[in-house]
Amino acid sequence: MVRLNEAIDLVLDAARPLGAERVTVLEALGRATAAEVVSAADVPPFDNSGMDGFALHAADLELACREGLPVVAEIPAGTVAAAPLEPGQAVRIMTGAPLPAGADTVVQVEHVEEPPGRVLVRTAPHPGANVRRAGEDVRRGGVVVPRGALLGPAEIGMLVSVGLEEVEVARRPRVAILATGSELVPLGEPLGPGKIHNSNTFTAWGQTLAAGGEPVVLGIAPDDRAETRRLIERALDEDVVITSGGVSVGDFDFVKQVEDELGVERRFWGVATKPGKPVAFGVREGRLVFGLPGNPVSAMVAFELYVRPALLAMQGRRDLWRPWITAAAVEPVAATRDRVEVRRCLLLRDDDGVWRFSTTGPQGSAILRSMVLADGLVFVPAGHAGGRPGDPYLVMPLDGSRPERPPLPT
Ligand code: AMP
Ligand code: MG
Repeated sequence: MVRLNEAIDLVLDAARPLGAERVTVLEALGRATAAEVVSAADVPPFDNSGMDGFALHAADLELACREGLPVVAEIPAGTVAAAPLEPGQAVRIMTGAPLPAGADTVVQVEHVEEPPGRVLVRTAPHPGANVRRAGEDVRRGGVVVPRGALLGPAEIGMLVSVGLEEVEVARRPRVAILATGSELVPLGEPLGPGKIHNSNTFTAWGQTLAAGGEPVVLGIAPDDRAETRRLIERALDEDVVITSGGVSVGDFDFVKQVEDELGVERRFWGVATKPGKPVAFGVREGRLVFGLPGNPVSAMVAFELYVRPALLAMQGRRDLWRPWITAAAVEPVAATRDRVEVRRCLLLRDDDGVWRFSTTGPQGSAILRSMVLADGLVFVPAGHAGGRPGDPYLVMPLDGSRPERPPLPT
């Protein structure tokens, strides 16, 4: 049995970045960049007005306040002035329209009066006001997205704003998902006596997609050695193999034996956590082979601790971890003598802005509801006696939105 940190290190040591591919920006959401993205252009491409108003020469501001200036043209967004702006003149200009040559200041429309054919400035801005300079967002040759970054909506918008239609991204790891157990029934089929639904395949499928992987669902291997071998052999075609169940010490737990026969090099079997003790990890020809426990919560927690960071690392990501926080216990939490306990918890932020957590009811490794209710995992050190309410613990928040709106600044 290895310790939690050691298990994570052994997995990450084996997780090497995969190759790259080009995709269109429409396919790039949620992918990781395989190379830094450099802009071939200035954004914005030209000096333009930041306001609806009047463009003029800063040197004419005083005159514009005293007597006003003649308005010689109008420049809507998307058009270009026909002629440079002469001293002593103004143009009406809309937000985003290119500044005519010579103009260097915009007075917003709310700060002027408009006698026929003229503009009279009531409140003068400082020289150069309300002008957005070419390249003020992005300079040509500048890095707009670093390598190994997650492409979210802002990054997609940035790619488009610099004129890119395609981007080099890391290949998504293909993840074979195989459930084991003669008690399991495929999705959509009724339960017979002694049977249960195969939930692990679908939690792993969701966790894989959420981590940028491409799930390859291989169904259910019954507790039969030959069939388990056939399906694991098939699974080993993919970048990552996830089995669930059959990796403990039961009479029909064939997964490890079969993997040994198939040349999977064992890196560890058993981690000092609860849940998540019967986890096996090995490598074959660069492929990562995870034997997750059968119990649904154990399988999900083990995915979160080992598989998710590995999938991100294989995509070249450096941000492998969710934003850890420290939260105060609402009730005492203890751990068994020799294993870190990973409990499912509900996070709440009190009025002082302190995060607090309470555990989500029964914490058995087969109680999937404890995950459904959870928005975080709390890590309780091995042998911890229970402590007192208010004691701080390390918590890994999981995905989620929250019902409460904190008091927002006014
Ligand atoms: P095992 O490690 O194979 O002995 O499985 C441990 C427990 O997890 C047993 O109660 C199994 O029935 C249950 N289990 C195994 N695989 C799945 C699965 N795919 N979906 C739901 N429960 C499972
Ligand atoms: Mg089993």
